[in-house]
Amino acid sequence: MVKLQGTRVFGGYAIGTVSFFDNKKEAVERRHAADPSAEEARFNEAREKAKAELQALCDKTMNAADDESAKIFEVHQMMLDDLDFEDAVMEGIRTEGVNAEYAVQQAGQNLSEVFAQMDDEYMRARAADLLDISDRVIAILSGKKKKTLSPTDEPVILLAEDLSPSETVQLDRSKILAFVTRFGSVNSHTAILARSMGIPAIIGLDFDAAMDGHQAIVDGYGGLLLTDPDEETLKHYEERKQQDDEARALLGELKGKENITLDGRTIEIFANIGGVDDVEDALRNDAGGVGLFRSEFLYLGREDYPDEETQFQAYKTVAEKMNGKKVIIRTLDIGADKRVSYFDLPPEENPALGYRAIRICLDRPDVLRTQLRAILRASAFGNIAVMYPMIASVWEIQRLKELFAEVQGDLSDEHIAFSDEVEQGVMIETPAAVLISEELAQEVDFFSIGTNDLTQYVLAADRQNPRLAPYSDAHHPALLRAIRMTVESAHRYGKAVGICGELAADTLMTEFFLQLGVDELSVTPSMVLAVRDAVRKTDLRG
Ligand code: PEP
Ligand code: MG
Repeated sequence: MVKLQGTRVFGGYAIGTVSFFDNKKEAVERRHAADPSAEEARFNEAREKAKAELQALCDKTMNAADDESAKIFEVHQMMLDDLDFEDAVMEGIRTEGVNAEYAVQQAGQNLSEVFAQMDDEYMRARAADLLDISDRVIAILSGKKKKTLSPTDEPVILLAEDLSPSETVQLDRSKILAFVTRFGSVNSHTAILARSMGIPAIIGLDFDAAMDGHQAIVDGYGGLLLTDPDEETLKHYEERKQQDDEARALLGELKGKENITLDGRTIEIFANIGGVDDVEDALRNDAGGVGLFRSEFLYLGREDYPDEETQFQAYKTVAEKMNGKKVIIRTLDIGADKRVSYFDLPPEENPALGYRAIRICLDRPDVLRTQLRAILRASAFGNIAVMYPMIASVWEIQRLKELFAEVQGDLSDEHIAFSDEVEQGVMIETPAAVLISEELAQEVDFFSIGTNDLTQYVLAADRQNPRLAPYSDAHHPALLRAIRMTVESAHRYGKAVGICGELAADTLMTEFFLQLGVDELSVTPSMVLAVRDAVRKTDLRG
């Protein structure tokens, strides 16, 4: 099995055969043109033909109610008339005395490079359009047909260096399971198409053309391509795909409906996210909010600490995209299984029982202050709450609240906007937190039960150790009692309580959670509607 990582453009799973679309361009010959005005005339004629082709494509896509694609072809027509492009071609013909094909190719490449350097993501994506229009003109000039994808019987995972907008539009959509390209951008036309087709797409993936014909799995959520998967991996992904398919099927039925039991009890269903990219999944699955934003993903996979601005932009984007829906940002939870080199954490005998999460943050208030500043600044742009992980003592939350107040004070002194309604909550994921939940409830605005860690700590079974799976029973009566106790403590003091560990998505548990009066369940986006379905089928009367 080969596992390759790229950048996710659109989530979803695909399992099938890889088909490599070899659309490499043929070299354009540089010739000396004796008669520049004849070359100019050839260019003008080819450009008019290209515009006519584009108009035909535009009409075709418009008739197929594909407005997005039609717009691309309109833009291409305008680009062909762009004076910068025309001047660059004419200059090549006149001053360098080259053939029209070569002049067009040079003009396309040079201008495309200019676009590719631009800061704006949308403008960068237009680099591909420039190459696309110049290829079209070159094909007309040289009388060669552009390559198209050969039709297959079975739908395939399409692998290509890059797909030009016009190649993408001419694909038979019923034959594509997923897109994987080496180049391209998240705003490219392939990306737009993948989103509108709802199929997984990955860019920036360094594949090998010899993968053609091999069986593969595309995990669009993780940006992964796995070729020649082993039995176990295949089974794992078949299950995930089935879950995802079911969630999609439910989407049509349940989108926009309330999370309400047959006897009228309601509950919030939120989504867990790891970064800005996941918000789209949360919204698509109709999550009522974000119940857990695992902010440590902003710190992982980097060389150095993310600064305040980087974090602020991420939190702000999530808050804005969620458009007033609640976003609970968990402060940094590194240590244990999540190692970050630049923190220089010493090796530990028992990392899971060690130096992690708020234990690091309380020791390194500078790190937490930066994060809290970013979170508070982002609170001016949406409905943000903050939540602290791995709490075991009352003094910890008291110290965290002091730090929070200090940061609020600093921002006020600096006249920086933030919302003064940002709630603070704690995760209940240690047995100690459960046992002192009454005291904690008096200190905070809400609880969120992290059943992943709570299970490992209550049952003394390392969550990372597969041999302990039979001992990590999240339905264990000890764990259920811990959950009950936490919910009762929260409600005794009028505080809301959610569950954000994996158990929240276990639909065998939904009735139990509803009976306890849990206020919110936060689950992986693809499970939001499955949990809604379970809630709507529950009757607490009998
Ligand atoms: C948990 O422990 O249940 C939780 C949600 O946090 P994480 O899985 O990130 O430790
Ligand atoms: Mg945890």
